[in-house]
Amino acid sequence: MSMDRIGVIGAGQMGNGIAHVLALAGYDVLLEDVDPGQLTGATAIIRKNMQRQASKGIIKEEEIEPAIKRIGTVQSLEALGACDLVIEAAIEDEAVKRKIFKELCPHLAKGAMIATNTSSISITRLASATDRPERFIGLHFMNPVPVMQLVEVIRGIATDDATYQAALEIVKRTGKTAAYAEDFPAFIVNRILLPMINEAVYTLYEGVGNVEAIDTAMRLGANHPMGPLQLADFIGLDTCLSVMQVLYDGLADSKYRPCPLLVKYVEAGWLGRKTGRGFYDYRSEHPVPTR
Ligand code: NAD
Repeated sequence: MSMDRIGVIGAGQMGNGIAHVLALAGYDVLLEDVDPGQLTGATAIIRKNMQRQASKGIIKEEEIEPAIKRIGTVQSLEALGACDLVIEAAIEDEAVKRKIFKELCPHLAKGAMIATNTSSISITRLASATDRPERFIGLHFMNPVPVMQLVEVIRGIATDDATYQAALEIVKRTGKTAAYAEDFPAFIVNRILLPMINEAVYTLYEGVGNVEAIDTAMRLGANHPMGPLQLADFIGLDTCLSVMQVLYDGLADSKYRPCPLLVKYVEAGWLGRKTGRGFYDYRSEHPVPTR
């Protein structure tokens, strides 16, 4: 089956990034979101990000407008009916994702494929909310999508070989590298990364160090390009908390318990960069630590 038209559900930071790399790879993309405000800004954000890539010589200036033209925005799942593949990148909430799949499936052609960009939720469980578990797969892009080389590919128990091969082909066409992960909570990258971030929040919570000390320590002491709290803000604290909850519930081990301070930041709506405040306050020219 040819994969020419790809739908992307969720025009947040990941959905925009996925649409960006797919359009540059020559796919026609339809970006869908329940929030019209997210769609209004999406094309401008994608163009700005492409211009940044062009200024660094990563892509050619003349690639930008044709790629932008390949991205359409729509406000209903029905409008994705003619897509060969739909990639779901809505918020990390299992109930929301299940509802999306239930509503989406009746509109799709029989052989159309569905992928989810979930950071942590069971692919097998999400597949069970569709009418086509054999055509369902995890395609876990990393943030920021245009920059990060890796895509984790996760098969559910029913995913067939043709779907897996088609997923690998898409990853290859975007110029990225696939890593196969088994369907266990949070897969590979987040199974390792998120407990480290959660531990950094505990380090803050217990007063071992302040935000600046913790991030400086891990940047200069462990040679990480970003401190863990800076990275948490970048990922989104709601997403970080959801992944920890999935690890905690899915592996039933207390070592994964989410730090109460992370819960508190999320309850406050301080979700990181995307809301202007998290472990840092981004509302002035330079980020200011909030603790
Ligand atoms: P985000 O909050 O930036 O964007 C989520 C988008 O989903 C929003 O635009 C929201 O309006 C939309 N949405 C909510 N309910 C919807 C619905 N019913 N139908 C359509 N759209 C809906 O979040 P994000 O960081 O882009 O994360 C999206 C997904 O990607 C999550 O599953 C997350 O776990 C995963 N992911 C995130 C990262 C990261 O670093 N942030 C990395 C890899 C994967």
